[in-house]
Amino acid sequence: MPRKIKHADFVLIGGGIMSATLAILLHEKFPSKQIAILERLPKVAEESSEAWNNAGTGHCGNCELNYTPEVDGSIDCDKAIRIAKQFQESLDFWKHCAAKGYIQDLAKCLRQLPHLSFVEEEENVAFLEKRYTTMKELEPFRSMQFSTNHDVIKKWVPLMMEGRNTQDIVAATFIEKGYDVNFGEIVDQIFYYFTKHDNIDLHLESDVHDLEQVDEGRWLVDITDETGGDSWKILTNYVFNGAGGGALPLLDNSGIQEGKGYGGFPISGLFLRCINPDIIERHDAKVYGKAKEGSPPMSVPHLDTRMINGRKELLYGPFAGFSTKFLKHGSYFDLPRSIEWDNILSLLGAGYHNLPLVKYLVQQVALSFEDRMEMLREFYPNAQDADWKVVTAGQRVQIIKADEEKMGKLQFGTEVIVSEDKTFSCLLGASPGASTSYSIMKKVMADSFV
Ligand SMILES: Cc1cc2nc3c(=O)[nH]c(=O)nc-3n(C[C@H](O)[C@H](O)[C@H](O)COP(=O)(O)OP(=O)(O)OC[C@H]3O[C@@H](n4cnc5c(N)ncnc54)[C@H](O)[C@@H]3O)c2cc1C
Repeated sequence: MPRKIKHADFVLIGGGIMSATLAILLHEKFPSKQIAILERLPKVAEESSEAWNNAGTGHCGNCELNYTPEVDGSIDCDKAIRIAKQFQESLDFWKHCAAKGYIQDLAKCLRQLPHLSFVEEEENVAFLEKRYTTMKELEPFRSMQFSTNHDVIKKWVPLMMEGRNTQDIVAATFIEKGYDVNFGEIVDQIFYYFTKHDNIDLHLESDVHDLEQVDEGRWLVDITDETGGDSWKILTNYVFNGAGGGALPLLDNSGIQEGKGYGGFPISGLFLRCINPDIIERHDAKVYGKAKEGSPPMSVPHLDTRMINGRKELLYGPFAGFSTKFLKHGSYFDLPRSIEWDNILSLLGAGYHNLPLVKYLVQQVALSFEDRMEMLREFYPNAQDADWKVVTAGQRVQIIKADEEKMGKLQFGTEVIVSEDKTFSCLLGASPGASTSYSIMKKVMADSFV
């Protein structure tokens, strides 16, 4: 039987926030072109973009202390300013989507919420004060407040000050206008809009297992029908590989020169989720602390109010877990299968040059529930075991890249890889992620469709 071959002008792999955003940008620029979106799961936004799989922080530099390192005695705010600008662009984009009807109920996707940073001990307090003094002069952060006074901080975050020794040296900054974002809800609503458009097709349970460039730069994408039907193919002029954790193997299969030498290292996230509604009700903020010495950026602890499906929630974490899967719904063979001759040196080099990270991961994986509760008590001293349970969040695949000096380098940001002929783009990495999805996808558009 000849296999079915369909055609689309653009193929987007993955039904997460990145593909949803790019589909809107393509649809607006080329309204009559055919867009096909291929998602391996029965629903969109079931991996990193799903509400419980991420922390839902609208990252904008208000509270993330790792965005403002101290360099030679001064606070470097470049990253915080850049991310504030990128988040504002995402916010403007989502408002535009709401105005156009792509997002039907923006209030379900976004909620304004104070963003705080919180530290203990003299050295950290001095850092936070210096950071505040620098940042309050900068436009995005002018409304920032700072305090070391227990009573003031108690007004901001009562839960965190109860049961705390009044002699403890603490400090916090407070910005009223931060955001909690339900990225999964944004994706669901955008895809709902697409169901009404004949030239945008969402194919669920359609796993892309291979792709190759054929005549005139076009791509032939191989799809397994996860419902058990016949596998099929789609011929297209352009492919966006937005498969999240699943992007790396597809980048390798694409065979593009620009994708050589990349590897990935999966780190899963765990949160403590509060199950006591009375406690949840008494906290109304996103509070970020300081990561422990030697730990990676995604380990910054935070106590986080969330609004998910109309319900207020409270999370603390993240803790790191280890799994060889690249996707939460992936296979334990993902990591071993990703090791190839062209990336093995990068992987070994990255491992050797990141021994503190390896040590951190081993320690994190060994943590018991009681250890995790002890860490929560640094934030919320009166936390009771019975009020919390551990939940598994999403899977991040950190990029490992060939590097002349160190053989392989671990990267914590995102990276867009584009083929020389601009017919294939791929997004790797997860941070700062969904908050900056609009600017990342704007770059994907600019790289291929100027
Ligand atoms: C623990 C954790 C906390 C986070 N916290 C935040 C936060 O507070 N704020 C923030 O802005 N960002 C946060 N992020 C990052 C953010 O979640 C991601 O950057 C974002 O969701 C990535 O979106 P995506 O569309 O690239 O990937 P995903 O949402 O993972 O979507 C990729 C899709 O591709 C599909 N797919 C994979 N392989 C294939 C294939 N072969 N064929 C077809 N489909 C395929 C998957 O099923 C999935 O639906 C966090 C991430 C994690 C893991």
